Amino acid sequence: MNDKPFIYDLEHSDMMSLLEELGEPAYRADQIWQGLYQQYWNTPDEFSNLPKTLREQLGQALQFEALKPIKYLDSSDGQTRKTLFQLHDKRLIEAVLMKYDPSTHKGQGRRTLCISSQAGCAMGCVFCATGQMGFMRHLTSGEIVAQVMYYARMLHTEDENVTNIVLMGMGEPFHNYDNVMAAIDRLNDSDGYNFGARRFTISTVGLASKIRQFADEKRQVNLAISLHAAEDEERDKIMPVNKRNNISKLLEACHYYVDQTSRRITFEWALISGVNDTEEVARKLASRLKGLMCHVNAIPLNPTTGYEGHATNRQSAAKFKATLEQAGIPCTIRMRRGIDIQAGCGQLAVSSF
Ligand code: SF4
Repeated sequence: MNDKPFIYDLEHSDMMSLLEELGEPAYRADQIWQGLYQQYWNTPDEFSNLPKTLREQLGQALQFEALKPIKYLDSSDGQTRKTLFQLHDKRLIEAVLMKYDPSTHKGQGRRTLCISSQAGCAMGCVFCATGQMGFMRHLTSGEIVAQVMYYARMLHTEDENVTNIVLMGMGEPFHNYDNVMAAIDRLNDSDGYNFGARRFTISTVGLASKIRQFADEKRQVNLAISLHAAEDEERDKIMPVNKRNNISKLLEACHYYVDQTSRRITFEWALISGVNDTEEVARKLASRLKGLMCHVNAIPLNPTTGYEGHATNRQSAAKFKATLEQAGIPCTIRMRRGIDIQAGCGQLAVSSF
C-alpha cells in the first residue's frame, strides 16, 4: 500500500501548500492544475511545463496511479465501454462510457459516463449486483475524479469529450455525500476541467435527509431517484433502505427539493416483469407523483445472477408508459445498454472476484 496522497485528491489550495513546502512559486500550482485537468497528463514526466527537478519532486511526494485500469470490455456495437479499476488497496470499482449516435439521438452525440462513488454498496437493493456484493468502503473524492479523467483522456485522443456524468455506478452517492460533492466541485472548477454542474446527475435510492441537504445547497446538479415501487410493502422487498426512508418521507423530501430549487426530479424505474410493470402499478405511481415536477425514466431490468426477476417485454413497457402519461406524468422508456458486457451496476466487478 502507498501512503502518499493521490494527486487527484488535492484541492488547488492543497497544491499551493505543497509547492510552498517545496520552495516553489505559487503559479506552479496553476501549471500543475492545467496539466492535470486541461492536458489530461497523469504521470510526472508528462508535465513539460515544469522543470525536471520539480517533476521528480512531485513524483516523490504524490501518487499518480491510485486507480489502475485492469480490464475493459467493449459492447459488440462498440458504443459502450466498461472499465474495471483497481484501487491502491486492491478494491475493484468500475465506470462505463455510453456513446449515443448523433443520428439516432437528436444530433447530440452524447458521451455519457457512469461512475462509481463507493467500492460495493451498503443499500442492498436485491436486483443489483453491487448490492449483492455488500459495502467495502467510500471512494475518496480523488478516486471519483480520476474515473472521469481516465475517460476524458481516452476520448481526447479521439477528439471527443465526456458530455454527461451520472453517479449511477457502484455505491450510493448520498451515503458518501462530502466526497461526492468535493469531486463534483473539483471537476466543475473553471480553472481546471470546467465540467458544467448541469451536466452531472446524482442517482440516489432516496436518503431523505440528504435530499433536503442537497436542496438547501441549491446546486445545479440533476437529481435522479431510484423508486421502483409505488407501495412501501413492495419497495421494502426490493430496497431495504425503504424501511428507514419510506415512500411518503421520500416524496416529502422531493417536494421540498422542487420547492427550493425549482428543478425537476427524475424517478428511475427498473421494469421487472409481473412485479412493477402493470397498468395498476402505473396508476398507483401516477397518483403518488401527482403535483410533483418530475419525469419517470423506466428501463427494463438488467439481469443479475443473484436476482430471479426478469425484464419487462416491450409491450408491457409501452402500456406502463401510456398509463403514466394519461395521468399526466411524463415517462421515457430507456434502452438497456451494454448487456453483453455486463454493464449493469456492479456486474463487472462482481464477475471478477
Ligand atoms: S442500486 Fe445503487 S444503491 Fe442499490 S445496491 Fe445497487 S449500487 Fe447500491
